[in-house]
Amino acid sequence: MKLAIIGSGYVGLVTATCLAKQGHDVICVDIDEKRVEMINKKESPIFEPRLKEYLEESNLKATVDLDYAMENSDVCFVCVPTPSNEDGSVNLDYVKNVSIAIGERLANKGYYTIVVKSTIVPGTSDETIIPILERESGKKAGEDFGVCMNPEFLREGHAIHDFENPNRIVIGEHDKRSGDILAELYSVYNCPIIRTSTKTAELSKYASNALLATKITFANEIGNLCKKLGIDVYDVMKIVGMDNRVSEKFLNAGIGFGGSCFPKDVAALVARSKELGHEAKVLSQVINSNKEQRMKIVELLENKIGSLEGKKIAILGLSFKPDTDDIRDAPSVDIIKKLQEKGAKISAYDPKAMDNVKKIFNEIDYAQNAQNALEEADACLILTEWNEFKDLKDNDFNSMKNRIIIEGRKVLNPENVKDFEGICW
Ligand code: NAD
Repeated sequence: MKLAIIGSGYVGLVTATCLAKQGHDVICVDIDEKRVEMINKKESPIFEPRLKEYLEESNLKATVDLDYAMENSDVCFVCVPTPSNEDGSVNLDYVKNVSIAIGERLANKGYYTIVVKSTIVPGTSDETIIPILERESGKKAGEDFGVCMNPEFLREGHAIHDFENPNRIVIGEHDKRSGDILAELYSVYNCPIIRTSTKTAELSKYASNALLATKITFANEIGNLCKKLGIDVYDVMKIVGMDNRVSEKFLNAGIGFGGSCFPKDVAALVARSKELGHEAKVLSQVINSNKEQRMKIVELLENKIGSLEGKKIAILGLSFKPDTDDIRDAPSVDIIKKLQEKGAKISAYDPKAMDNVKKIFNEIDYAQNAQNALEEADACLILTEWNEFKDLKDNDFNSMKNRIIIEGRKVLNPENVKDFEGICW
């Protein structure tokens, strides 16, 4: 098939390279010229395992020219951002702008299918996107063009794997013809394909993320209790997770969830519920508890070393989770801000995310590796469970001024390192 992928970020570029690998003709569209240039040079603008290799092997093209992309495609995928507004509600400006641009170009085309992969609150396809497309094109959805809402469930750090091995594919179809086209495109993937309404598809994405965020928050709540009891939450949650009604996934206590999806999606669902006259009490509390959880590591640090004024704190791990360079709503950013407010000096190390963090904090010392970051430090906070931190040995910490090591994620191996503690263990 001839495909245009609009928005070449984590979702768009992964979608593009994976579909190109299936033999489709793929054109990436982005408004960011630098990104387009990089993709055309086969350089990945983001870090994601195997993405560079997929890009190098593919024959996909990138452009800023939506006219060209739509002239040369029969289906487009909308993969633009849906960030939060100040009040937590979803900001649909990118989606609206793209809908206008697509709508204008639909006027001269035969039947064309628009697939929305961006995460959008329930009702957006029917109440916002389709009316814009119809207004701009003067055409009728379901007759002259088709619309599907196809939520993306990939995890950053495993994006290629998840795209190619999905648990399920959800096709929210406004019209059967476009649903059939998308079902055909996805028929190579070995998983259930659920065809449903656009609203059900939209909500299924939010409900999934909200449940996962709630599981983490629940584990943190039990973890905070464990800390008071002097026990390890991981011993408790291992037992809980063995119950197959629960599953052991997403029960890892620590400094809480971050990233470009969970925080904004839970907030957007709370805001959308409010608009519809429903108070999402559990999810509101998930957001509040998650914010508080990040600061527990700072409280624990102060309990150990007192005032942070002038103290050197080594931070290991900046990305919101391992195997990504993404720092959007990463706990590390809030924690560093708080440490700086309290007068601490920071030396930080992350295998992939330092370039992104440099755009926020330029007054931090960025180290070449974990060992360099630890030199002469008054304390060390571990904020991301990168594999390379699992290999740290006791003597890697010997250059610290004070041996205070606090984990915000469970990562160190107690057989290799002595004298450390976690925020919930
Ligand atoms: P991103 O910020 O990594 O990429 C978005 C890209 O869209 C950027 O390159 C930007 O320049 C481009 N863009 C913006 N406006 C454009 C326009 N008018 N035309 C063309 N390109 C435009 O975003 P992302 O993380 O890939 O997320 C995209 C959507 O997918 C969001 O709704 C997000 O919630 C959802 N989602 C993300 C993930 C994830 O893990 N990142 C997972 C599932 C769903």
